[in-house]
Amino acid sequence: SMTKKKLIAGNWKMNGSVEANDALVRTVIGGLQGATCTVAVCVPAPYLAQLQMLRHGSALELGAQDVSRHEQGAYTGEVSATMLKDFGVRYAIVGHSERRQYHGEDDQLVADKAKAALAHGITPIVCVGETLAEREAGHTEEVVRRQLATVIHTNGHCITEIVVAYEPVWAIGTGKTATPEQAQQVHAVLRAQLKAATPQADRVCILYGGSMNAANAASLLAQPDIDGGLIGGASLKAPDFLQIIAAAR
Ligand code: PEP
Repeated sequence: SMTKKKLIAGNWKMNGSVEANDALVRTVIGGLQGATCTVAVCVPAPYLAQLQMLRHGSALELGAQDVSRHEQGAYTGEVSATMLKDFGVRYAIVGHSERRQYHGEDDQLVADKAKAALAHGITPIVCVGETLAEREAGHTEEVVRRQLATVIHTNGHCITEIVVAYEPVWAIGTGKTATPEQAQQVHAVLRAQLKAATPQADRVCILYGGSMNAANAASLLAQPDIDGGLIGGASLKAPDFLQIIAAAR
């Protein structure tokens, strides 16, 4: 809708160090005055405490890159939604294509992770997107609809509280961006699917992700159903990330 605040979320992936994070976050926070969008960084779990301190008193929101589907217990290596809440986390990416590809995450696991986040007041950023082979076979809409359908079926009316990120796998980390028209076409499909599930679908932020940068952000963000961005590589460079934030009016 016209008045919905855009969301620019950085995904640092498995990058960073205490020293590098300090410099990056101080510069980003220093450049946030005048920003009209919501800004978040999704950081590796070991740095959540550092980020909680660095962002204190600022407008920068904090996110995680994953969350367990389980509440607590014998799940070695997992991080629960309650633990994330302890550090002031507002967002958790779920179902990133790197986790679907390299860690075997399926649609039901991703939907369960979204449910675990929502149960603790954390906004899941649910990633969907087709591979190059799926796009070339003409299956893009079928794939993203299947991925989102499981999240809708598992979460019911709570889906008004999620963020969706359309991230074509062939565009992630490749320097190949979907054109604004290609992205808008898929975003419209996702919006229609949300509308069929809730009268509040216009409130849901649908982000684009995949090689978004300072040069292409404005034209992508100008599309009617693109409500923000999930930014990988460019979120590690403060000037680039700040230019994307400035483009999100
Ligand atoms: C991502 O990891 O979600 C992403 C969009 O990465 P990049 O911007 O580097 O393509």
